[in-house]
Amino acid sequence: MLKSISLLTSGGDSPGMNAAARAVVRTAVYEGVKVWGINNGYKGMIEDDMRELNGRSVSDLIQRGGTFLGTARSEEFKTEAGRKTALKNLKTHGIEGVVIIGGDGSLTGGALLEKMGMPIVGLPGTIDNDVWGTDYTIGADTAANTIVDAINKLRDTASAHRRIILIEVMGRKSGWLAMTAGIAGGAEYILVPEVKMDLDDMCCELRESYERGKRYSIIVVAEGAGSAAGIGKIVAARTGIETRVSVLGHIQRGGSPTVEDRMKASMLGEKAALALMNGVSNVVFGFDAGKVVEINLADAVHNQKTLDPELVRLARVLV
Ligand code: ADP
Repeated sequence: MLKSISLLTSGGDSPGMNAAARAVVRTAVYEGVKVWGINNGYKGMIEDDMRELNGRSVSDLIQRGGTFLGTARSEEFKTEAGRKTALKNLKTHGIEGVVIIGGDGSLTGGALLEKMGMPIVGLPGTIDNDVWGTDYTIGADTAANTIVDAINKLRDTASAHRRIILIEVMGRKSGWLAMTAGIAGGAEYILVPEVKMDLDDMCCELRESYERGKRYSIIVVAEGAGSAAGIGKIVAARTGIETRVSVLGHIQRGGSPTVEDRMKASMLGEKAALALMNGVSNVVFGFDAGKVVEINLADAVHNQKTLDPELVRLARVLV
């Protein structure tokens, strides 16, 4: 078994990263293995900004969004020289492996560090749910719930004024967040990058439904599908119906994690720490059909996750 491991959170923060980090730390402590927390992602690794943690270091954390370790983006880590400095710092402290909690970019960085001889176990931490090989990423459920809450509120005001409301949500190139929150929030239309939508058809349908007496419509727009402001202008011009746009922004990143995010992040954190301590490397832990699965790190970062066709089909029927 390894004697000393470390962990970091990197890239965009997501609610549940703390729960995962807590589980990594407590599992290591339980097994009598030293565990180091690296502050501010790869930036902290390069700057030697790390400290040894104990069980108490992660008290009062499970309910908090964000990440107690801090996160950052580091251009320097993309260079070989930067990664060499990072590796040297880890070795100086006797660190024998790293748990990386982050999105695609962070896991890509981890794969490069692994090639230089440092054992790596990754956990998918991103609200976008866009990591290949896992149907779950830490924080996506909380973000989807935040969006549904916003949809509920916007629905009230939309109905009062007979307006069309467009809600722009995050997700980068993935439509998962928009699709999931749109279905759960009962949106009238969901625009995602993976599915082509004919705006002319949509505007025709909207006009007809308002003529039939419909009071309001909610359109969820994934950021990867275009700007809600731009689409809103087109919709207003083509339908003649009053239109408002709400860009939810970083509110989707924050908040106390849901039970699903706390539980799954905890399960993944434990698995990651146990695996790394027992000599496993070059893997990402995720979920498939409700069960924890191990994914090859290179596969996770080189493959592109696609939107579940079942979600697309469901949206077609219900929305
Ligand atoms: P996320 O992990 O949320 O996808 P980023 O794509 O911004 O976020 O990546 C976070 C950090 O991971 C970057 O700032 C960089 O330090 C590291 N990283 C990303 N891509 C690479 C890469 N191709 N090579 C090395 N490091 C990378």
